[in-house]
Amino acid sequence: MMLAVNQTHRPDLTSWVASANEPQTDFPIQNLPLGVFQRPGDDHSPRVGVAIGDQIVDMAACLDAGLFDGPALVAAEACAAPTLNHLMSTDQATQSALREQLSNLLRQDDQRSVGNQPLVARFLVPMTEATLLLPVAVGDYSDFYASLEHATNVGSMFRPDNPLLPNYKYVPIGYHGRASSIVASGTSIQRPHGQTRDQPAMEPTYGPCKALDYEVEVGIFVGAGNMLGEPVPIATATEHIFGLCLLNDWSARDIQSWEYQPLGPFLAKSFATTLSPWVVTLEALAPFRGPVAQRPLGDPRPLDYLTSPADQQLGAIDLTLEVFLASHRMREAGQPSLRLSRSNFKKLYWTMAQMLTHHTSNGCNIRPGDLLGSGTVSGAAKDERGCLLELTWRGAEPLTLPDGELRRFLEDGDEIVMHGYCERPGTRRIGFGECRGIIRGGRSVGYNC
Ligand code: MN
Repeated sequence: MMLAVNQTHRPDLTSWVASANEPQTDFPIQNLPLGVFQRPGDDHSPRVGVAIGDQIVDMAACLDAGLFDGPALVAAEACAAPTLNHLMSTDQATQSALREQLSNLLRQDDQRSVGNQPLVARFLVPMTEATLLLPVAVGDYSDFYASLEHATNVGSMFRPDNPLLPNYKYVPIGYHGRASSIVASGTSIQRPHGQTRDQPAMEPTYGPCKALDYEVEVGIFVGAGNMLGEPVPIATATEHIFGLCLLNDWSARDIQSWEYQPLGPFLAKSFATTLSPWVVTLEALAPFRGPVAQRPLGDPRPLDYLTSPADQQLGAIDLTLEVFLASHRMREAGQPSLRLSRSNFKKLYWTMAQMLTHHTSNGCNIRPGDLLGSGTVSGAAKDERGCLLELTWRGAEPLTLPDGELRRFLEDGDEIVMHGYCERPGTRRIGFGECRGIIRGGRSVGYNC
C-alpha cells in the first residue's frame, strides 16, 4: 500500500485545539505524530500520546472511553502500552485508520467530533506538564552514510588521496550501531573517554575525548518486519517504514580516526545517540514526498535490486533540518543560539527504501521498532554541513560564536538542538519538534551517589 495524500492532509483543516492552528506550530492536525509521555508525580506508567498543538492526546484514556471502532480500534489497543512497538507491528492500513479517526475527533466543525469534543478535551495533557520519553524500545540500530557530500568531505579529511571509496555509489554503506545507549531528547551527554593517538609517531593514550561532535540525521523506524532469510524487495520497502524522527549521532572524532579501520566505527559512536520524542508517520509525510535527485552525470545506476520506478518518483522527502548551538556562556548571557546549518533530507544519495532493502538483501531480518539512521545530512553548500567535523574542517577553520568563543569541536556545557520541518506550497507545514542534548564533562555523577 502506498500511503497517499487524503482528507487528513487537507491544508484547510483546523482543530478545536486552538494551539494546533497557529501557523508556526510543529503539530497541526495534519501531523498527529506519536510519542510516549509521563506526568511527573504521576503513578501511571509511560503512556502513548499524540501531539496536537501544545497538547498531548492520552491514547489509553481515549481507548477506555470507547472513542475508536473498526480497524482504528485495533491500532488504539496497540497504543495501550509503554512504547510504540506494538503499534509499529500492525499494518499500515490499521495505522492509517487510527490517523483518520484521530483527525475526525480533533477537527473543528465536524459532526463526528462535536459530540466527543468535551470527552477528548478531558484527555489532553499540556506538553509543558509532561516528560517526553523514548518512544520506542529499539531492538537493533543501524546507521547509514547516505549523503554523498558528507561522505566526500569526511573521506577527504581522513584519506586525502582517496576520499570516496569505490563501493560508495553501489552500496548504501552502513554499520551496526548500539541500541542500549539511545537516549531521549533532553538527556545530558557525558563526554566519552577513549583511546586516541594524537600523532602518528606517538603512543596512543586513554582519556577524555578532545574532538566531540554531533551529526544531524533522520531516524527511520521500522514498522512491519521480515522473516529471516527473506529480503524485502525495493517495491514494498516503504511498507516496512513506520515513521521518522530526528537523530543526533554523537561522535568522538579522535577516537573514531584511530579505531575505525578496518571494521568501522565502534566506541566513537556507541556512547550516546539522541532521538527526538515524536515519531512523524510516513502517512503524515505523504504530501512532502517527491522525485529523487538525479545522480551526478557519469555515476552508475543503482543495481536492479535497489531500483524501483515508484521509489525514484516518490522516494525523497522534503524535510529541512536545522542545527543550533548554544554554549554555557551564551545561555547564561541570555543570547539566542547560533544556527550552524540547514540541510535537506531530500538530497541524500540513497533513499530510505534503498537503505532498508539493502539492509535485508542478505536475508537479515528487521523487526518492529528497529531504527535506521540516515547518516549525516549534509549538502553541497558550506552552511549545509551537518556536523562540526565538516563545518570546521576537522578544526582547521574554527567557528566564532556570537560572544567571541571559538569552536573546533564541542566543549562541556555546549547544547545542540536540532529541528526538522516540512513545508511546501499548497500544504500545511508540519514539524518534528526538537532533538536536544547538552555536553556534560567529567566522570559519571553516579560515582558520588
Ligand atoms: Mn552517523
